[in-house]
Amino acid sequence: MMAEESKEEQKPSVSFIEQFIIDDISDGKNNGRIHTRFPPEPNGYLHIGHAKAICLDFGMAQKYGGKCNLRFDDTNPVKEEVEYIDSIKEDIHWLGFDWEEREYYASDYFGKLFEFAVDLIKRSLAYVDDQPADVISAQKGTPSQPGQSSPFRNRPPAESLDLFYRMNEGEFAEGSRVLRARIDMSSPNMHMRDPIIYRIIKAPHHRTGENWKVYPMYDFAHGQSDYFEGITHSLCTLEFEVHRPLYDWLIDQLKTSDYRPRQIEFNRLNLTYTIMSKRKLLELVREGRVSGWDDPRMPTLCGLRRRGYTPESIRNFVDMIGYTKVEAINDVSLLEYAVREDLNKKAPRVFGVLDPLKVIITNYPAGKVEEMEILNNPEDESMGTRKVPFCNEIYIEKDDFMENPPHKYFRLAPGTEVRLKGAYIIKCESFRKNEMTGMIEEVFCTYDPATRSGGEASDRKVKGTLHWVSARHAVDAEVRLYDRLFDHEDPAGQKDEDYRKFLNPGSLKVLSGCMLEPSLRNAEPLDKFQFQRLGYFCVDYDSTPEQLVFNRTVSLKDTWAKIRK
Ligand code: ATP
Ligand code: MG
Repeated sequence: MMAEESKEEQKPSVSFIEQFIIDDISDGKNNGRIHTRFPPEPNGYLHIGHAKAICLDFGMAQKYGGKCNLRFDDTNPVKEEVEYIDSIKEDIHWLGFDWEEREYYASDYFGKLFEFAVDLIKRSLAYVDDQPADVISAQKGTPSQPGQSSPFRNRPPAESLDLFYRMNEGEFAEGSRVLRARIDMSSPNMHMRDPIIYRIIKAPHHRTGENWKVYPMYDFAHGQSDYFEGITHSLCTLEFEVHRPLYDWLIDQLKTSDYRPRQIEFNRLNLTYTIMSKRKLLELVREGRVSGWDDPRMPTLCGLRRRGYTPESIRNFVDMIGYTKVEAINDVSLLEYAVREDLNKKAPRVFGVLDPLKVIITNYPAGKVEEMEILNNPEDESMGTRKVPFCNEIYIEKDDFMENPPHKYFRLAPGTEVRLKGAYIIKCESFRKNEMTGMIEEVFCTYDPATRSGGEASDRKVKGTLHWVSARHAVDAEVRLYDRLFDHEDPAGQKDEDYRKFLNPGSLKVLSGCMLEPSLRNAEPLDKFQFQRLGYFCVDYDSTPEQLVFNRTVSLKDTWAKIRK
């Protein structure tokens, strides 16, 4: 409790959105009620940008004793799928938020929205336009030039009403007619120039089937759904700022009391070296450029989960970047920092050798095995210890040995000593090299029995400490190393250049024959570890006890200080 409070105090200030909420509560607006919603369109999987919205919508409700609804914005039956609905719910729960029983759908309101449209027609505030979309858009004008009125703008309400009903009976072809709000063709805000509010779509809807042949546009469904649900703060991204006058105009026509939802916009999350558009992410999946929505290189929540990210690390990241009114691109290294920080506390340390080189300890008895007791996390002794077997044949990393080391190379080299972490100091006596390939095949060492970890000479100083795995006990694993999916900071923001051009050909590297300590044999998918000196790793869904598969979540920024090059 104390820790929580002092963390709050260190923050410079609350976000401007939180300030709105605080002020509304103190003004007694909506009787002090706070009610938000998260409104995903079920046309793709959630990504880290959505996490920013989720943390705000659910987080503000949580913090101020309010509620947050989950509302699927399912107004376009052509692009939406049930698969997406299920994944969205799973991802929100995984992030740590819950909508309780308030799972709503814009399609729940199709009846009420239709009635509202009918009401607007009767009040001469909406009309059916028989012109095709391209003509309507050509008449819209430009921000500096007023639009031209449609020849149907003053159509009698009774005629519009009759046509609107018949549009919904399926009598007319898609695109042949639309319903438009009748607002102001010379408004400086283009969205107020008689926006289209209903269009004909003949595809069946995943929830309402064949009931409807007309579907509301996003702008017509969104604010009204907020109103029907009693939302007080409708938080959305900045691109909707220019839609706000329309949002307010529609609420003005609908409201019957002092209550009205208030739209507040904040900056989207953009991240370097990736893309955030669902349409483009879907292209990557469909074109097979990634293995699926949950490919560990994807910025999707399911991809980050598979990569080894924790919900806490994502929430902390969102907290660090904050909410403003200024569009920016956040550095992905901040996200990587957040996951390192979290896994540093949580992930047990283990030994894994990714590129093995065999070391034979010539003076260690051939049949002998010692169980070395090693701390699971020096940052947190409550995580206990584990036993790691040691014998006369071990693996170390190939690049931890050099035949002709440069100055200040503190790892193994002919005649030098290193400590094997948690075991003994060994000294390199000789090595065997394949003269054809120049590859070092085996290294021969002696060990000093007095230097066993915790033993009499265990504090004898040597410059380097290596991780290792007993060759006779090691388990074999495949390890997948990831780099950024794109090799350009802003792949989607390059004029005239397709974002695919910037896909990083080296974003996935698969290593086989990696050797891990035997405690990892029964690791389960999504279990997370720090492979000492190498980074954080997470068991992949493809992993089986026969063939372990690990994903590298992120490398370690800092290795054991002394052994740095
Ligand atoms: P598209 O990529 O198809 O334009 P979208 O990203 O707007 O879709 P929605 O499903 O409509 O996706 O988004 C649901 C909510 O998440 C919206 O309130 C939206 O403002 C918010 N959101 C979407 N992307 C981001 C982002 N990058 N940063 C912050 N919030 C986002
Ligand atoms: Mg959207």
